Amino acid sequence: MKKRVVIAGFGDTGLLVAINLGADFDIVGVSPKPCLVSGQELGMRLTQPQRWKQDYLMPFARYEKLDGVRTLQGLITAIHPDKAIVNVTLANGDVHGEPYDALVISSGVTNGFWRGNALENFAAINEAIDTASQQLLQAHSIAIIGGGATGVSVAANLAARQPQKDVHFFFSEAQPLPGYHPKVRARVEQQLQEVGVNLHPNHRALIPPGFKCDRFTTEPVAWSGGQENFRADLTLWAIGNMVPNNAFIPTGMLNEGGFVKTDDHLRVQGYHNVFAVGDIAASDPHRSSARNWGYRLLGHNIRAHLEGRDGDMKRYEAPRYRWGSVFGVQQNGLRVFQSDGSSFRFPHWSVRTLLFPLAVRRMIYKGVRKA
Ligand SMILES: Cc1cc2nc3c(=O)[nH]c(=O)nc-3n(C[C@H](O)[C@H](O)[C@H](O)COP(=O)(O)OP(=O)(O)OC[C@H]3O[C@@H](n4cnc5c(N)ncnc54)[C@H](O)[C@@H]3O)c2cc1C
Repeated sequence: MKKRVVIAGFGDTGLLVAINLGADFDIVGVSPKPCLVSGQELGMRLTQPQRWKQDYLMPFARYEKLDGVRTLQGLITAIHPDKAIVNVTLANGDVHGEPYDALVISSGVTNGFWRGNALENFAAINEAIDTASQQLLQAHSIAIIGGGATGVSVAANLAARQPQKDVHFFFSEAQPLPGYHPKVRARVEQQLQEVGVNLHPNHRALIPPGFKCDRFTTEPVAWSGGQENFRADLTLWAIGNMVPNNAFIPTGMLNEGGFVKTDDHLRVQGYHNVFAVGDIAASDPHRSSARNWGYRLLGHNIRAHLEGRDGDMKRYEAPRYRWGSVFGVQQNGLRVFQSDGSSFRFPHWSVRTLLFPLAVRRMIYKGVRKA
């Protein structure tokens, strides 16, 4: 009989772990969504929602390597490591016990209005994406608060695609993108200026009491440095106010910030058959195992563990600086910034002919069926 791997959270990384494990295992993926709702590219999601959906809102059935994988729409409510079982509350309200030989915790974080753990159907997800985009595109002046990749992506895409808009980008340090190489930070700052974003460095917003940064606001924004309040038609909060989706995880598995403590092999410290990956995993200071092929490593390590070869497990290594695409696809192509400060660009002509069909859909996802 095949060994069973339960994947708690079937988002960007959980899904890729399943794809990398292959057909030798009985895989069960649990997600409150009936499809992949990616956490990537908020700028594109808000400014070109129909294009974004083609790549980042994907029914599970379109992934060839998920044939045979059982997906349950529901929420895991408890892990019982002593019995090797998880409790799942399904979307129809039924409560269900799912035993496992190996468990992967990949439940991510709740962040803003674009990532969360609410039980939703496809129509509601689709409509929420369109509504947020319409709200943003109807506003003339827009304030974006928060200097991480998400804020940069929204500011750059809005200014480049809607040059008539008045786009203001506020961040608390002297330059955007903390955690990225200094050369990348300087280059991104310059590029934002070139596309017409009004930059406001050294602005740390005061968060209104009780506000979870999970919707647009229209009230003036105040700053802890005492700068003059700023009022835009619409303010987007992208301050990295991440809440780990950990309500179902035993506290002994969590660090003081509520993220899952992992060892060098992305295994949960003290649990031989429980692994964690993605934004929930305290794998490195940037918690960057979603980016650094943590899913591929787990495919290997879980297989090694279930075949009784723990000694063959590989170690997870993260670079010192963050890396990746920040702006997404632009008119001149897709630039990917590296952890050593360099970057390379896929020319625009190659993005739809080579990068997405071959590098992304064939190599990373190992086959995606046409819509
Ligand atoms: C191939 C790849 C490329 C990337 N490129 C970029 C990039 O260019 N720029 C960038 O900024 N970032 C990039 N990222 C990183 C990305 O933005 C996030 O880091 C990534 O979305 C985190 O994935 P995750 O699986 O941890 O979380 P999520 O994708 O949020 O998935 C977690 C899932 O778990 C579900 N869940 C929560 N609680 C429960 C529960 N109790 N039971 C069941 N399910 C639950 C959630 O609803 C969600 O569906 C990339 C990631 C990947 C994999």
